[in-house]
Amino acid sequence: MDDKKVIDIREEFPQDQGPLDLSTTVKAALKTVTRDEWREQEIESHTICYLCGQKLHFIHQTDFITHEVDEEANCLHCQIRTIKQSHRLQ
Ligand SMILES: [Zn+2]
Repeated sequence: MDDKKVIDIREEFPQDQGPLDLSTTVKAALKTVTRDEWREQEIESHTICYLCGQKLHFIHQTDFITHEVDEEANCLHCQIRTIKQSHRLQ
C-alpha cells in the first residue's frame, strides 16, 4: 500500500509511560488496521508473490466427477510455485 502512515503509539496510549512493551504495540497494531485494510492485506497475501511482489499466475483444473479443483499459483518472474492445493466443489 502506498498510503502508509506513521503512528506514534505513545499518543494512542498516553496512560502508558516509560518504555513500550509488546502488548502495547500489539494493541496499537490491532487498532490501526480497519476491516477493509485487513481484507486487502489478506487478498494480497494470496495473490502476490512474497519474494518479488508481482501478481501470481493461477491454474485451476476441475474434475467434475470427483467435484475437486486442483489449484496452483506460480510466480512467472521468480519461476516458483507458491500454492498447490485441492478444493472440493460445494
Ligand atoms: Zn516472484
